[in-house]
Amino acid sequence: MAQQKKWWEDGIRFECQGSGKCCVSHGEYGFVWLTLRDRRRMAKQLKLSTIEFTRKHCEKSQGMFRLKEEKPECQFLKGKACSIYEARPTQCRTWPFWPEVMDAKTWKNEVAAFCPGVGKGRVHSREEIEKAMKEQSASERKLRI
Ligand code: SF4
Repeated sequence: MAQQKKWWEDGIRFECQGSGKCCVSHGEYGFVWLTLRDRRRMAKQLKLSTIEFTRKHCEKSQGMFRLKEEKPECQFLKGKACSIYEARPTQCRTWPFWPEVMDAKTWKNEVAAFCPGVGKGRVHSREEIEKAMKEQSASERKLRI
């Protein structure tokens, strides 16, 4: 069966501009949710055990872990850069190609209008975009585990 044509068929130009905007809480996309794998990776980077990392940096909500939000900006944002960039959570890696924003209208109103990286830099191919979407979906399914 032929694959359905998507609006991102020819790819999307995107490159992080280091604005730090996506690391500052903005409504429903504000929380940084973490899988066990995310917490392990971040703990290792910070030279903490996963338990220590979770106690110090996370809180539980709706049966899932997320980064503690004591300020509007993420606790790991230093200046305009992520201080744990190499170990950053899955949802930060897969932004802006989250399944929930990949309908043309949401993309236009909530991503392109907000993120200065959209339309800049290199073109991400359809395959790359769909890989990020799959990774994000898989991660969301693991949040409760
Ligand atoms: S973990 Fe890093 S990339 Fe993710 S929101 Fe925090 S500062 Fe931004």
